Amino acid sequence: MTVSFYTLGCKVNQYETQAMEQEMTRRGHTLVPFGEPADACVINTCSVTAEGDRKSRGAVRRARRECPSAVVAVCGCFPQVHADQAAELGADLVMGSADHGVFLDRLEALAAVPPADRAFLLDPGDPMKRRDFERLPAGGLADRTRALLKVEDGCVNFCSYCIIPYARGPVRSLPMDEARAQAVRLAEQGYRELVLTGIELSSWGSDLPGHPLPEQLILEICEAAPSLRVRLGSLEPRTITDSFCQYCAGLDNLCPHFHLSLQSGCDATLRRMNRKYDTARYLESVNLLRRYFPGCAVTTDLITGFPGETEEEFAETLDFLETCRFSAMHIFPYSPRPGTPAAELPDQVPRKEAEERARKASFLAWKMKRDYLERCTDSVLDVLFETGSRGYAQNYVEVRVDEEVPRNSLLPV
Ligand code: SF4
Repeated sequence: MTVSFYTLGCKVNQYETQAMEQEMTRRGHTLVPFGEPADACVINTCSVTAEGDRKSRGAVRRARRECPSAVVAVCGCFPQVHADQAAELGADLVMGSADHGVFLDRLEALAAVPPADRAFLLDPGDPMKRRDFERLPAGGLADRTRALLKVEDGCVNFCSYCIIPYARGPVRSLPMDEARAQAVRLAEQGYRELVLTGIELSSWGSDLPGHPLPEQLILEICEAAPSLRVRLGSLEPRTITDSFCQYCAGLDNLCPHFHLSLQSGCDATLRRMNRKYDTARYLESVNLLRRYFPGCAVTTDLITGFPGETEEEFAETLDFLETCRFSAMHIFPYSPRPGTPAAELPDQVPRKEAEERARKASFLAWKMKRDYLERCTDSVLDVLFETGSRGYAQNYVEVRVDEEVPRNSLLPV
């Protein structure tokens, strides 16, 4: 049969969709672009914001409308949090953020039944009861440039604005030897870059015997697959310690690009967010990285207009951003996420004000990015070309050249 996939949300979702695509191909089915006629349409949804919910609902309705007799199957975080809403969108199959193999079995079974005889199946499962890491094949883009490797699922941080712990359940990690074997296999397949990813990568290992640390995993993977350059997904500031830097600083194939979630540069706001660090600890991490990885790129996420954020608190955040000198930022105006403690906090900041603060922060982010790029002038960067003339350097700076070079080549520029 023909199957199309549509993915919303984070790298973990992208990874899980890629794994499902591989599995469906292995089972003899044909992938078609989403929006074209198909026998089955899979929507892997996101629920990280109300916008994610809205887009997820829209994608399911679109699939139903455009492919009226197809099996429409929904998985991911949206039905995990809002099973009742997901059940009302006209899909045939609704599951959650795990059990992707069972999900595909059920999809195939439904496709074997004429549309009029299909019985709707809703089974999102209970993420809080999940204890095992779900093994899925790692892979990536068809042109074999960058592969994703998910090594961790779940989060128990319960940041006050975030619904993800309820959608993904407790921390589960891929054991070290399996992660190493997957990295070696991806290198053998010709990938040039591996992105280590997880819902909360910093917690990798906390559920494994002996509680290995993320830096031990990074060392293991970098050494086992020296032809891959290894990029790290988002880390929490607590991960960056002297030990982390000593483990990682000598690894030639580890990208000097670190994404440390900040969310706010004001300690009072961070406490309301239930983040587990203050600005002093965050800055310590940034300084450690700069000491051990001179010239490295430090990128971050920021939420503006969090409940109770005053003008003074936002000004503190802007000051702190300048202190950290980020090379790139993702900035989000806060929007209340129903079901989270922050949605119930007093002093909600009007949306317009949150957006205005996001604009101010974006302007500062643009200036800091420009400064970082200027500091790269006259340096030689190793660029992995994803198209004939565009690629990313090890520090995640986007590079364009005037001539065509072979895709998937890694060249000094
Ligand atoms: Fe959400 Fe915080 Fe966990 Fe990130 S660390 S997934 S923001 S609860």
